[in-house]
Amino acid sequence: AMVTRVGPSPTGFMHIGTLYVGRICAHFARQSGGVSILRIEDTDKKREVEGAVDFITHAFDHFGVSFDEGVGVDGQDVGAYGPYRQSQRKEIYQAYVKHLLETGKAYPCFATGEELEAMRDKQQLRKMRTGYYGVWAEWRDRPEEDIQAALDAGTPFVIRFRSEGKIERKLKFEDLLFGERKLPENDQDIVIMKADGLPTYHFAHVVDDHLMGTTHVIRGDEWLSSVPTHLQLFEALGWETPEFAHIAPINKMDGTSRRKLSKRKDPEASVGYFEELGYSNEAVLDYLMTLADAGFEDWSNENPETSSWEFPLTMRGLKGSSGPLFDFEKLGNISRNFVATLKSPEVYDRVLPWAKQHDADLAEMLQADPDRARAIIAIERDEAQNVRKDIEKWSDVKAELEFFFDERFTLTADEARGMIDYLDAGELATLVTEFLEGYDPADDNATWFGKIKELGGKHGFAMRPKDFKKNPDEYKGTVAHVARVFRILLAGKERTPDLYSIMQVMGPEQVKERVSLVL
Ligand code: GLU
Repeated sequence: AMVTRVGPSPTGFMHIGTLYVGRICAHFARQSGGVSILRIEDTDKKREVEGAVDFITHAFDHFGVSFDEGVGVDGQDVGAYGPYRQSQRKEIYQAYVKHLLETGKAYPCFATGEELEAMRDKQQLRKMRTGYYGVWAEWRDRPEEDIQAALDAGTPFVIRFRSEGKIERKLKFEDLLFGERKLPENDQDIVIMKADGLPTYHFAHVVDDHLMGTTHVIRGDEWLSSVPTHLQLFEALGWETPEFAHIAPINKMDGTSRRKLSKRKDPEASVGYFEELGYSNEAVLDYLMTLADAGFEDWSNENPETSSWEFPLTMRGLKGSSGPLFDFEKLGNISRNFVATLKSPEVYDRVLPWAKQHDADLAEMLQADPDRARAIIAIERDEAQNVRKDIEKWSDVKAELEFFFDERFTLTADEARGMIDYLDAGELATLVTEFLEGYDPADDNATWFGKIKELGGKHGFAMRPKDFKKNPDEYKGTVAHVARVFRILLAGKERTPDLYSIMQVMGPEQVKERVSLVL
């Protein structure tokens, strides 16, 4: 059984990669019968934003990613290994810092910001590696009196780890995704506790993952190069090391080059963006699963009734050093397929809350006559063999509803005549008159379409030629083109779901009134 964790920082922004990694962590834990943890890594008080923890827990919850332990949606801790906010674990880290101080593996450093800057300048001038290491580590072996004097003077200090590493030596370790790695040992005396008494990321990671029993550290590959430092800390504390699995970031094409999704440049780097656009959380998550493992889509098509938790995600599926490419088109396909699995009441129940938050106009339409709205959404969906796949985002529902409302339907007779340019005004009026004469709201679909065909034949419209897709010009003058006349008059556009069903929802009065526009 695996114990995994995700450790987002509350910066007020949630990267799609955090959702991705969280999803993968939760998946592996669940798949192995283990435990997943949501830990809030809030030791950088400068970056913290009010309400950001809530934002994270709610975002995971919204996307249906749940963790067994950690900070819950209500902000309360769940689990016996808390607290799960690093800022509330100060005493825990300090106890281990104390231990390292006592065993000589750590020391206080009173170097000021200016001193460190001057050190870096010198290092750069001499073309040396920058950092606090070797001869540069001035506080590493300072006599006790100096330390006491600095303490007495009230000089702020940090605690540094006393590294025994040698940069010339290579450290070998196995990453579950990147395979065997050989990286130089760390020889920097890194800060483990900052002047404010809070730990740095490196130290907090090691202490927490030990105490929380993490077996697998699954995280972004920007941390891969820090593994030597982390291994050093685990060893200094006498702890067993967890397994590491570093995940390549989600990429996008920028012109002709590939780069990782950027918080600053790409709106799609933010999880909130997908919610705003109206993608269902299922589609976004399923899409992330296909990024993690290309086999996911086939699997879910073959196992439509099975939850994606049961998908046998392997670490292997995540391998690939350059990271997957984010593709809106693919997300769109997955999303359309997902929405096609929903019946009209479900679609309605999903769109309404979204609309209330993001599109008041759509919310108003949905609520004006809920039954009618559901009936419109049901067209070519609830009873259909081939469910239509035209809803990608909740916002797409607007176009389906809009034309049913007389106050929103603005088509003028001239516009209609312009769109139906293969008939002159007189021919159009005759066609409509004859349509109205034959119109019986009680007709079933077949009878109604029979009448349309008959009408077409009478006015010299041919049946649809077989290869009309290859020869769109031949489309003109076909019976389908007669239906097109009524589609335009009734809906104001060329593409709608099944026209007969639309007329059923409209009812005879609205139908008659609309087609009479050109009389
Ligand atoms: N707080 C770290 C981050 O946001 C977590 C990295 C980790 O999982 O260890 O990248």
